[in-house]
Amino acid sequence: PLLLEVQNLAKRYPDGTVAVDGVSFAMRHGESLGLVGESGSGKSTISRLVTRLVDATGGEVIFEGESIGAIPARDFHRAPQRGRVQIVFQDAGESLNPRFSAFDSIADPLRRLSRLHDPVSLRQGVQEAADGVGLPRALLDRYPHQLSGGQRARVGIARAIAVQPRLLVLDEPTAALDVSVQAVVLQLLERLRREKGLSYLFVSHDLNVVRMLCDRLIVLRQGRVVEQGESARVFQAP
Ligand code: ADP
Ligand code: ADP
Repeated sequence: PLLLEVQNLAKRYPDGTVAVDGVSFAMRHGESLGLVGESGSGKSTISRLVTRLVDATGGEVIFEGESIGAIPARDFHRAPQRGRVQIVFQDAGESLNPRFSAFDSIADPLRRLSRLHDPVSLRQGVQEAADGVGLPRALLDRYPHQLSGGQRARVGIARAIAVQPRLLVLDEPTAALDVSVQAVVLQLLERLRREKGLSYLFVSHDLNVVRMLCDRLIVLRQGRVVEQGESARVFQAP
């Protein structure tokens, strides 16, 4: 089956705002898709609908052949798909629990989602995730304030990949970072995609960033798809 199918997705917030208005797209395994559009075009809402953090008001979300769109957001943490689709937010590195060491931050989803409790496997899982994002193991005992912005971003991404998701939803993951750190994180994401076969649904207002990582792009305006195609073609002068 396809990795992800989104069919006629719609979201109307309780105050009446229609954020997403009949959006459809599909992703194959290993493929990466960019969602671009101006602020307010519905990108964040789509990333939260696909990761089941908010409930849709219409349409379908099908993950690896199974409908997850109808699982209420409040129950999704118990669904078998929960660990297979992970989201990295803009402030992934900045919203780490200040009382958690890097080790504890990465171990947390392994405990809760992968039900990994045996200390040896847990340590192994944390170290693999740290290695995967290029975070030196010697830094695992540090707390967020003892790490640089780039190191914190790596911990945030390590948290998301530790449970070995198939799809990583990236919601403006570099927007809060310095330009130099941004480039490092983009290189890291590119490498994870190559080495681990991760697929990305990459949400960004920055077309150049998205182009670097994505095979295909979807352009949104006012909650609707207004253009889509291969990254190289979209927005190219005829
Ligand atoms: P983007 O990520 O492209 O900036 P969003 O998905 O955040 O777009 O927002 C799409 C539209 O939905 C905007 O008009 C925004 O104001 C509105 N919106 C987002 N979240 C809410 C909410 N919780 N309640 C009401 N309206 C919202
Ligand atoms: P927090 O980090 O605030 O404790 P959670 O415990 O809910 O957040 O989730 C841990 C991490 O898992 C989040 O930082 C985020 O990356 C990701 N995440 C949270 N909810 C979902 C979801 N429904 N689907 C996919 N990933 C999620």
